[in-house]
Amino acid sequence: MLKKLFQSFRPPVRGQHHRRTTPEVINKSQHSLQRSQFSRHAVGIVERLQAAGYQAYLVGGCVRDLLLGITPKDFDVATSATPEQVRAEFRNARIIGRRFKLVHVHFGREIIEVATFRAPHSDEDQADSHRSSHNASGRILRDNVYGTLEEDAQRRDFTINALYYDPVSERILDYANGVHDIRNRLLRLIGDPTHRYQEDPVRMLRAVRFAAKLDFGIEKHTVQPIRELAKLLREIPPARLFEETLKLFLNGQGAIAFEMLVDLELFEPLFPASSHALEERPTYTHTLISQALSNTDLRVKQGKPVTPAFLFAALLWPALPGRALYLQSQGVPPIPAMNGAAHDLIAEQCQRIAIPKRFTLPIREIWDMQERLPRRSGKRADMMLDNPRFRAGYDFLLLRESAGEETDGLGQWWTDYQDANDSQRREMIRELGSRDDGASAAPRKRKRSPSKRKREDDQTWD
Ligand code: ATP
Ligand code: MG
Repeated sequence: MLKKLFQSFRPPVRGQHHRRTTPEVINKSQHSLQRSQFSRHAVGIVERLQAAGYQAYLVGGCVRDLLLGITPKDFDVATSATPEQVRAEFRNARIIGRRFKLVHVHFGREIIEVATFRAPHSDEDQADSHRSSHNASGRILRDNVYGTLEEDAQRRDFTINALYYDPVSERILDYANGVHDIRNRLLRLIGDPTHRYQEDPVRMLRAVRFAAKLDFGIEKHTVQPIRELAKLLREIPPARLFEETLKLFLNGQGAIAFEMLVDLELFEPLFPASSHALEERPTYTHTLISQALSNTDLRVKQGKPVTPAFLFAALLWPALPGRALYLQSQGVPPIPAMNGAAHDLIAEQCQRIAIPKRFTLPIREIWDMQERLPRRSGKRADMMLDNPRFRAGYDFLLLRESAGEETDGLGQWWTDYQDANDSQRREMIRELGSRDDGASAAPRKRKRSPSKRKREDDQTWD
């Protein structure tokens, strides 16, 4: 299909992948995009800005995704108008951001992001710290130096993200041979990769995200510096890393993204404790995390809700036993040791990735449940079923079992218990006998259908 899309596109001259000053212009007849595929609000914004005398284009992920036959997540507009000028054109517009000043134009629930053309950074600009600033390692801390369309194209991250679509003339402007890279399914940074990663280390995570999501290869110069520069991620504000991590793991290709992060040594700066567990118990840790991410990918593809709490609970779980054992070796009893380890682990993780409270609480609850699920005697099992977190705790138990944790059939017991009627339930509790801890369920007489692991649809929060 791509062949047909770009039939008449000329391959670029070698060595000219970036730094074009005149764009390749791809006319309506030479590409497959149609105005109607874009959000009508975004198209309306572009038309309005152009009518007011500004340059304006649809840009970034929406152009890229539509060329690839993917439904875009959102629509971004780039314009020569300053944020203040954009705001003046629209009643429903708000200026946001500090690092990048942007305008959000609201249409009910849809938000269109309008960004003013930006220039790459020159040394001269850096003297003016209001507009532009870098830290010692070259990271851009503020980036409000406005520029021309050509300059805007050069400061974008990947060639495939630097395509500009004009819905009025229906032409694509390509300054970085992005169409060529889309055709070859290749992710390529614009400019010198080391420099571009130093400017913004999050671009390393974006490389992984796009490669995983789009099933693209990463061009060799773009991939080459990553392992060495991975540690720069430690300088990124933890709140930004939380957002990026969610995008990496919740875009439907999280399991692949995880493999790539580990391979490119980006996992360690994001999840130091889990990375340590991965070295200590590679098979178990890898299976547990991959399985959690594959389950999540499936849910995303089915359009089911996913909760970051469950994912983080899984990502961190393999690091928990080591810590609890250490505390026990210091004389702390098992349960407080487990609680202490959970608390410390989350606090430490939040120094890298700022997991909001609304997720850390459920993580703790999922972990606590693992302690309580084996104790089923008397009324405990029924009380457990009424717990709003039961579903997540039970799913987590199944996840642990799928990674090879030995639980003596506990998952199956709970599967059966949910399917049982009242008298069967009473019988199941009786069969547990007097062992209050119920660590090992008595063998079931009747085999039940495994199809009843269905309640994963009702995760109740977020
Ligand atoms: P998606 O929205 O599907 O995740 P996207 O490519 O639209 O992908 P956004 O984060 O929405 O990504 O950013 C919009 C555009 O802004 C990108 O396509 C890219 O051109 C530019 N951009 C975003 N982040 C960076 C960055 N860190 N460095 C350089 N350019 C960036
Ligand atoms: Mg986008």
